[in-house]
Amino acid sequence: MTTSPAHVLSATGVDAWYGAAQALFGVSLHVGDGEVVGLLGRNGAGKSTTFNAIMNLQVRSTGQVELDGSRIDSDAADAIARAGVAWVPEDRRIFTNLTVRQNLELARFAVGDRTAVTIDELVASLPLLDKLIGRRGNQLSGGEQQLVAIARALVSRPRLLLLDEPTEGLAPLIVDGIAAAIQRLPELFNVSILVAEQNLPFITDLTSRVYVLETGRIVHEGPTAAFAQDAALQDRYLSLSIA
Ligand code: ATP
Repeated sequence: MTTSPAHVLSATGVDAWYGAAQALFGVSLHVGDGEVVGLLGRNGAGKSTTFNAIMNLQVRSTGQVELDGSRIDSDAADAIARAGVAWVPEDRRIFTNLTVRQNLELARFAVGDRTAVTIDELVASLPLLDKLIGRRGNQLSGGEQQLVAIARALVSRPRLLLLDEPTEGLAPLIVDGIAAAIQRLPELFNVSILVAEQNLPFITDLTSRVYVLETGRIVHEGPTAAFAQDAALQDRYLSLSIA
């Protein structure tokens, strides 16, 4: 079935459960072509669970999920990845005993029929990667690991990138570099991005629209600029406000 082709991701009425415990309640959201969209909420609000439900991993879910207008909600996680969804988990999962080049080469083996992005292309598009390419995973800072995790996710030329709290544990200066790198991805790689975060200044720099989750429900959606100026909304739904 094909609907709403203008949206790269369209999720409608997604419920999700860990065992008997329901964690998502009717989550609906979309990401347009070339958009970078924020998914905000406190610890435990359901951000990672939303990604798990999109990827069909770790959680049992119902509802409709479409990628470029085609249903993916009955597919297994590996098929969803091959269809064009790439996920960068919160813990980044870099192989620490392999070099950055080896980490990226390993990802190239797993792309199936998709035309893998070459390491040269990645280095040209993410300039900071160049100086990291020969280092082992255990020789990278948190920010460098994040960059490598994003590069690895791009190898399969995804249509949709799911970034789970990319700034967690990073110093503000590093966060600026990560934001600048992510900002260029839609144009460079024809990818759209849904980014889960609690870091509102980062989201304000990076996204045009946000969804806010609380206890598994979308409680607010709208332009990022308006949310960034609304201290009352931030106090209600986030741990720290900036307005
Ligand atoms: P965080 O920033 O802490 O990762 P989050 O917004 O990503 O928060 P989730 O991890 O999606 O939140 O958690 C949503 C709810 O689901 C929470 O109540 C959490 O305790 C529960 N939960 C998450 N993972 C599991 C799991 N593997 N088994 C059981 N319950 C889980």
